[in-house]
Amino acid sequence: MKSLYCSLPFLFVVVCSLSWVNASANSHENFLDCLSSYHPQESSSISKVIYTETNSSYSEILESSIQNYRFFTTNTPKPLVIVTPLNNSHVQATIHCSKKHGLQIRIRSGGHNFEGLSYVSQVPFVVIDLVHFRSIDVDVENEEAWIQSGAITGEVYYRINERSTNLTFLGAVGHTVGISGFISGGGYGLLFQKYGLAADNVIDAMFVDANRRVLDRKLMGEDLFWAIRGGGGGSFGIVLSWKVKPVDV
Ligand SMILES: Cc1cc2nc3c(=O)[nH]c(=O)nc-3n(C[C@H](O)[C@H](O)[C@H](O)COP(=O)(O)OP(=O)(O)OC[C@H]3O[C@@H](n4cnc5c(N)ncnc54)[C@H](O)[C@@H]3O)c2cc1C
Repeated sequence: MKSLYCSLPFLFVVVCSLSWVNASANSHENFLDCLSSYHPQESSSISKVIYTETNSSYSEILESSIQNYRFFTTNTPKPLVIVTPLNNSHVQATIHCSKKHGLQIRIRSGGHNFEGLSYVSQVPFVVIDLVHFRSIDVDVENEEAWIQSGAITGEVYYRINERSTNLTFLGAVGHTVGISGFISGGGYGLLFQKYGLAADNVIDAMFVDANRRVLDRKLMGEDLFWAIRGGGGGSFGIVLSWKVKPVDV
């Protein structure tokens, strides 16, 4: 019935909008309760990284990495909640509670998606913004680096260059592109004729699936590992970190 109402213009727009707002408000309250009870011992830390429209930092956080202002107007649908996780358990809690309360998840790394898919949706949704997942551990001896999924490519160049002037990462031309959306789409850069795509130089990943399992390459299997490196960000689950092979320059 609701969808029939919603397909008729004028008269039912208000009924439709109100029922949507009501359903959203309930989902959003229940979602927040669910998050704080997921790991009661961690409720204080997760409460510090949850933002709703009543929070004064909400707009600033939402806007922080938006690259396409066509998707940041007053009419653009906004997330009911933004979560900026500090650890894997916050990501797992958000997956669990979003599923339980029927909210879609949008995942954001560098915010460069051309269609705004990491922060816009047409149904009630939550944004997981990986802004705090930024650590980059470079192992020069073994020529490997673990990069957390919210890092941007410029940070990766910088951290590798701090440790070695002979190595670099096959990153994007633009330094603000997020590592996760970049690798999820294949990732081309200035060295691609010599070394291929960024995705060709990923050797492992830590990933959370829809059932909240944390999987590395061995546990996820080669098919899924292949798919997350070029098959599109957000289609399969949430990448927590990538292990990449820096290349010689
Ligand atoms: C100014 C600019 C310059 C660019 N330059 C290049 C370039 O030189 N080379 C190149 O190859 N491409 C380039 N691109 C394209 C860019 O690589 C893609 O748009 C990429 O998807 C952006 O990644 P992001 O993390 O910044 O974006 P986001 O908007 O954060 O994410 C993009 C997609 O990945 C998903 N996603 C983000 N994080 C995760 C995660 N941790 N786990 C699972 N899914 C996730 C999002 O949900 C979304 O669907 C450029 C884009 C722009 C706007």
